[in-house]
Parts: sequence; C-alpha cells; structure tokens
Amino acid sequence: MAQLSQALKQATPVIAARGEGVNLYDEDGRRYLDFTAGIGVTSTGHCHPRVVAAAQEQVAKLIHGQYTTVMHRPLLTLVERLGEVLPERLDRVFFANSGSEAVEAALRLARQATGRPNVIVFHGGFHGRTVATASMTTSNTRYSAGFSPLMSGVHVAPFPNPTHYGWPVEQATDFALKELDFILQTLTQPNETAAFLVEPVLGEGGYVPGNTAFFTGLRERADRHGIQLILDEVQTGWGRTGKFWAQEHFGVTPDILVTAKGIGSGFPLSGIAAPAALMDKVWPGSQGGTYGANAVACAAAIATLDVIQDEKLVDNAAQRGEQLLERLRSTADGYDAVHDVRGLGLLVGNEFRSANGEPDGSTAAAVQQEAARRGLLLLTCGPSGEVVRFIPALVVNEKEVDEAAELWAASVDAVLA
Ligand code: PMP
Repeated sequence: MAQLSQALKQATPVIAARGEGVNLYDEDGRRYLDFTAGIGVTSTGHCHPRVVAAAQEQVAKLIHGQYTTVMHRPLLTLVERLGEVLPERLDRVFFANSGSEAVEAALRLARQATGRPNVIVFHGGFHGRTVATASMTTSNTRYSAGFSPLMSGVHVAPFPNPTHYGWPVEQATDFALKELDFILQTLTQPNETAAFLVEPVLGEGGYVPGNTAFFTGLRERADRHGIQLILDEVQTGWGRTGKFWAQEHFGVTPDILVTAKGIGSGFPLSGIAAPAALMDKVWPGSQGGTYGANAVACAAAIATLDVIQDEKLVDNAAQRGEQLLERLRSTADGYDAVHDVRGLGLLVGNEFRSANGEPDGSTAAAVQQEAARRGLLLLTCGPSGEVVRFIPALVVNEKEVDEAAELWAASVDAVLA
C-alpha cells in the first residue's frame, strides 16, 4: 500500500476538507482558525469568491496556454497589472511556479548579466529547497544536510539579527556591514560577485525584520561595485507586512525582486521583476519551463490584486498586525519564557527562551501543538524552531485577531503556567 513519504514533516494532524476566509474545516466539520495561510500563501483568504470565480471562468476557457509556445490573455493582463504595484524601475517580468524557481531565475539573470560567478547571502535566509536554492539557504542545516555537493560560489554574510547576537540593532547592523566589506575584501572580490541575495525580513530564519541602515548600506555597496541586489520577497510581498512590498519599509529598491506565495491566493505562481537594462541581458531561451504562468494561476493573480486593492488589504494587514502585536505582547508580559514578540504587519513571531536564555524550540512546539488542539493553527520557525509565527490571510478581521489572541493566551497558559 502506498504511503506518504516521511520527508514531509507535518505541523498538525488536521485533514483539511474546506476553507473559507481565515477558517479551515476538517473532514468532521471542525473549524480551525488558520493563522498559517498555507505558509503565507492564501493572501485573500481561503477560496475568496472573486478568486474562485476568476479561476472557474478561466478553467472553462483555457487551462494550459504554454507560455513559450503561445501567449494567453491572463498572462498579458497580469504583466500590465503588475505595473501598478511594482517599483517603476522594475519594468520587465518573468514567471515561474514556485519561490525556489523564481530565486534561481534571479540568480541566473544576475550571473548572465554580470558575467560574475559568486553570490553573497545573509545568515538565516531561506530561499528554497532546490539544490541551488538550498545552497543559498542558511536558516537551518535541515534544508541542505545530506544533499552535498552543494552549488559553489556562495558566501555567507551576517544578517543584522539583534535577538541572535543579543546586541542593539545599530550594533548588529554595523557588524553586518563591516563583515560584508571584509568578505568582499577577503573571500569574493566585487568583480567576481554577481549578487547579494537577501530577505527583507528573515522568514524561516525566525521572523527578524531588517532595517533601513542595513538595506541602505547594501544598496550603496551594490551600486558602488555593480553587484545586483536581489530581494527575496517571496514571503513578505503582496501586502503581508503592511506595505505592498516589505522593501518600502526600508526605502530601498532592488535590482531584482522575487515574488511568489501571496501572488496567486494559493495557485502556484512566482516571478521576478528587473529593469529592462538588466533583463535585456538575459540570454533568450535560457529561462522558461513547462508550467510557468499557468493561465488559471494568472487569472487568480489578477483577481487577487483586485481584491487586495478593492478591500484595502494592505492597510488591513498594517492595522491587524498592530493589534496582533499588542495582544501577543500583553500575553508575553506575564512570562519570562516569551523572550520577544516582533514582526511587521501580519508577519508576527513570538520567540521562546529557556531559563538559561537559550532558544527553546520544545516550548514553542508545545504551545503550537496546544493551540492546534484548541483550534488555532500556527507554525514555528527559527533555527531551533523557537519562534511561533502568525501569518493569517490579509482579510483577517478585528474579531478574528482577538479570538486568535485569546486561544494563544490560553495555550501559553496551559503549557507554561
Ligand atoms: N524564499 C522565501 C523567503 C520563502 O519563504 C520560501 C518558502 N517558504 C521560498 C523562497 C521558497 O518558495 P517555494 O517553497 O515556493 O519554492
């Protein structure tokens, strides 16, 4: 009898039968408040009626218009509509299916355009599970152990991570930029360095926001050395952090923007955006794929953008994010084990530490499991799994945030009290 591979590590035992907004229902009809959103994917909530209608309409017209064979209207319309939300400079786009594929597309573009082999990534970053993206992922050894040899040409610089270092953010930033300069001086010289690849907020690495001084420093060094700044906004884009792109918090525009997850409300779609001057250097035919820019996924992405704009979901993410942070902080105040509550918009993490100050993955896991038993679905992240993360759909309302906060407080109480 066939069984599912143990390669998949299941966060909950729930078998989801149906989803609606921020709610998931299992096969027995039990309701769960879903603050995972399929790892930050169902931006407009489960099965938003406008996304469903757009996908249904497209399914009946054309499912697979293979984009290197023919073009199709949803693809062309999506390209046009992306112009409304992309930084003006980034006026060329390319599509794939998953975040990993899009990160690889960005890397290939940076290498082809610069003729340089190396890439500098930032410690704690997660960029995917293909061998190339696993080679650039430094959030946990789990993503690359046993897969060697990995891709060569990857150097790792520090990310300004105040909680990890136990330093104020200014000190962590100063250290990160100094080490970056040292790496460019001692490990990979600028004319051999194609790109900096970085997340605006460390996602899988523990929900650690970057900061303006750090990203300004990266932009300045990228400009000075002709290095392409690639921002991986796979988890942070499409309104997640209370701005359409997280980079807007830091006033920095990348050379290559990577997007996925929230773009399609659950349909597989990803992409990169870059200035024409850069994208025009990519070698024609060197990128593509069978399924990229699937017609139904593109139709869903257009509907997703409509919903985000019409329902003002970016503002909602900012407001509900504030509410969530406040509620989690008031629960945290009662417990030494809750070391930190942090986040941007609806990307919020709650870090646990043991009595001796070590990151405490087992307490985080116990609280996450307890919350699931009580009907609140959450995930963990961070190198030791010490951070419980909250990433509900952007449609979440005030009452649902309150309900989640109450279930959270009860779960923390049950495990720690
Ligand atoms: N980059 C980031 C920042 C991510 O969070 C993820 C997925 N968690 C990826 C890349 C990889 O995306 P995918 O799983 O769609 O390949």
